[in-house]
Amino acid sequence: MAAHQEKKPSEERKHKSTQNGTQTSQVQWGRAWEVDWFSLASILFLLMFAPLITYYFIMSCDQYQCSLTDPLVDLLTGNKHLSDIWNKTPRLTYRAAGIYTLWVAFQVVLYVFIPDFCHKFLPGYVGGIQEGAVTPAGVVNKYEINGLQAWIITHVLWFANAYYFHCFSPTIIFDNWIPLLWCANILGYAVSTFAMIKGYFFPTNAKDCKFTSNFFYDYMMGIEFNPRIGKWFDFKLFFNGRPGIVAWTLINLSYAAKQQELYGQVTNSMILVNVLQGIYVLDFFWNEAWYLKTIDICHDHFGWYLGWGDCVWLPYLYTLQGLYLVYHPVQLCTANAIGILTLGLIGYYIFRMTNHQKDLFRRTNGNCKIWGKKPEYIECSYMSVDGTKYYSKLMTSGFWGWARHFNYTGDLMGSLAYCLACGFEHILPYFYIVYMTILLTHRCIRDEHRCFSKYGKDWKRYTAAVPYRLIPGIF
Ligand code: NDP
Repeated sequence: MAAHQEKKPSEERKHKSTQNGTQTSQVQWGRAWEVDWFSLASILFLLMFAPLITYYFIMSCDQYQCSLTDPLVDLLTGNKHLSDIWNKTPRLTYRAAGIYTLWVAFQVVLYVFIPDFCHKFLPGYVGGIQEGAVTPAGVVNKYEINGLQAWIITHVLWFANAYYFHCFSPTIIFDNWIPLLWCANILGYAVSTFAMIKGYFFPTNAKDCKFTSNFFYDYMMGIEFNPRIGKWFDFKLFFNGRPGIVAWTLINLSYAAKQQELYGQVTNSMILVNVLQGIYVLDFFWNEAWYLKTIDICHDHFGWYLGWGDCVWLPYLYTLQGLYLVYHPVQLCTANAIGILTLGLIGYYIFRMTNHQKDLFRRTNGNCKIWGKKPEYIECSYMSVDGTKYYSKLMTSGFWGWARHFNYTGDLMGSLAYCLACGFEHILPYFYIVYMTILLTHRCIRDEHRCFSKYGKDWKRYTAAVPYRLIPGIF
């Protein structure tokens, strides 16, 4: 066995191992090689119904004032036929196609051609060229982190063109919302299909590809781990962050502008949604380098789940609260507004601090202070494809000692705050908290399964030390 050595990434030590059997155990820690019936059924369900669910939500706002039940009642009582609803649905327009093409092309230009300059003058911000985590094949990819810059440039141009030069109305997104949905779908399907073909015929790193014998699973969960075009155009980083998340705050601004146009004022609930979600989006870009170490980038392959999800699901369903408030302008009493703001900010604080604690711990290899003390941890090891053995640590201090995914708990508190801002008249705005609860609980289980496959008995020691997942003492 070779001697231990310090190697990149800095927090992990590795050495070569020639033991038999390690090759078999290590391949389990990426996405699944074999598909069980439950995963297959879930995937088929999502492939069939996720686009319909998205359409249903947006259509109910457009035609039924955001009521989720009225369209069903109309259909079931024969009051309306599917064709009536479909005929009232706005079609794809040249204008929407032009706006969307320009939007995506502009984000590509910002991503590929403008190296980050924010890290040169913003203290504490980590941008520019950064390394990702070790892939199952033992590769460490480099990324150009310039999302914050793209977000700032985009928003400055938005305000300048909408309010100063009057090139377009700030309600442009709302006014073209359904035609833009068709464009987003076209891109979502195109990029997922392209990623699948690329995975078969010209993968960026063949050793990091995974094939099951199931076409639908491969299409949904992706084949390639880190598909790229050229040296820098990384599909996962681009589609995860932009155009969807840069658009998130613009979409909310467009909804606020529509409220102003329709009612002559912007309600405090709309301001709350804009502010709380704006903090979440800005946090994402401020911490984009940290994001390279999250499950989306570290562990998920790039398929329809990320490709279509980032193009359609995220911009359309994460922004439902703002859309709802255009149709139902809720003005909260001061006490409720303060309560919701407090819940949102506490949720954000927990989310950020938990993520920060792990990041600090991993970056410094445990040589840091968590809540004023040296962190406690469990030493663990895992293997990559080529039989290299890596060492890592699982922290049991700070929020990570309270629960194994307290960052998700904070995220859920923030998500609940957005929904509460919309009052209790309709269930549509509450879709987000229901969805996030399912997503993050499933993600928790999925991550733990992966971590168990990766760390084996070390993971068991960790779960014995930190027995709860999301809520200490309960779950
Ligand atoms: P985490 O940031 O919690 O990362 C999980 C990984 O961290 C594990 O796979 C493991 O990776 C490592 N890890 C687990 N326990 C420990 C520990 N005790 N000490 C050190 N490292 C540990 O998960 P996500 O990437 O899913 O989430 C990141 C954030 O993004 C969360 O706050 C989440 O709420 C948010 N999020 C938001 C979504 C949205 O749609 N709004 C969707 C998904 C996430 P390793 O293999 O390196 O050990």
